[in-house]
Amino acid sequence: MKYDRVYNFSAGPSMLPLSVLEKASAEMMNYNGSGMSITEMSHRSKTYDAVICNAVDAVRRVMNVPENYSILFLQGGASGQFAGVPMNLMTGSNSADFVVTGQFSGKAAEEAKKYGTANIAATSKPANFTYIPAQEDLVLSPDADYVHICYNNTIYGSKWNYIPETGNVPLVADMSSCIMSEPVDVSRFGLIYAGAQKNLAPAGVTVVIVRNDLMGKAMPITPAVLDYSIQAKNNSMYNTPPCFPIYMIGLVLEYIEAEGGLEAMKERNEAKAKLLYDFIDASEMFSNPVRPDCRSVMNATFVTGNAELDDRFCKEAAAAGLVSVKGHRSVGGMRASIYNAMPREGVEALVSFMEKFEKNNK
Ligand SMILES: *Cc1c(COP(=O)(O)O)cnc(C)c1O
Repeated sequence: MKYDRVYNFSAGPSMLPLSVLEKASAEMMNYNGSGMSITEMSHRSKTYDAVICNAVDAVRRVMNVPENYSILFLQGGASGQFAGVPMNLMTGSNSADFVVTGQFSGKAAEEAKKYGTANIAATSKPANFTYIPAQEDLVLSPDADYVHICYNNTIYGSKWNYIPETGNVPLVADMSSCIMSEPVDVSRFGLIYAGAQKNLAPAGVTVVIVRNDLMGKAMPITPAVLDYSIQAKNNSMYNTPPCFPIYMIGLVLEYIEAEGGLEAMKERNEAKAKLLYDFIDASEMFSNPVRPDCRSVMNATFVTGNAELDDRFCKEAAAAGLVSVKGHRSVGGMRASIYNAMPREGVEALVSFMEKFEKNNK
């Protein structure tokens, strides 16, 4: 491949589109005639102001974010929002409902307990997180300040195939590993957040999309940098923002628009995932434990059932230029993260490697 690059199946930080890396590289020494790189520039400069405004506008356009929502670029990762969301939103009844469908949604509930009551509305833990609970299985409290879900479970490789109905209670979604992978109806959510390093940009920026009426009620203890209304008033520049990752969001979204937007991403991503899951389902060696209608389009997990063989698979795949297919350290097995930037050719190469591996290890 060009530049001797590999197919990188890492769950995050993960692949970025090559054309984006090339553009960033070309602009590194002298951004737009400024005589300096984005990384060296004052965030208060006119030039940078245009960069951040462009990135905000691009998120609004690409995701079709309604006017009554603000788009923030914060720091502290999605994990920072595990605390940021309760501090900003858990201020009515001081309780919220959590649907626990994997490790990150469990962590979100644990963190929220520091600030109020975290009710578990449903969990698929007894089934080892192999499915997403149905609407009728969610035990929702009518006075909860919000309902929290993780829309795509990066570690277990599952995803919500519906948006839960929560009545007047705002729905909050961690979309770290699926943001920009398909169109979503933002108006169904009170708040969406996502660390950028999976499908959007380098690590260092967290996108928060929040309905305006949910801002301005933060707990007095909320750090100013995590206070949505303070950051919204300051266009995410209450303090120095993660300048370079925000610039990269702009470039990635320019790429997505040029490729046909989120409809095109969805079509491509579903085709890539189908290729891989169809092979796994037909294979005698590999299997995927997730209920088929809940399978993630972004993170496909699979095992041989033999830990030693899994290990050998990962090593031999890496030697063949298919790197980081090892599953999360907490669950083992394999995981192929196939975000927007993973070309179809990468998934084809993985499938044909799996085919060969299976033949050679019968
Ligand atoms: C990676 C990930 C996180 C953690 O993100 P950090 O930026 O490391 O805090 C949280 N939620 C989901 C769904 C993730 O994929």
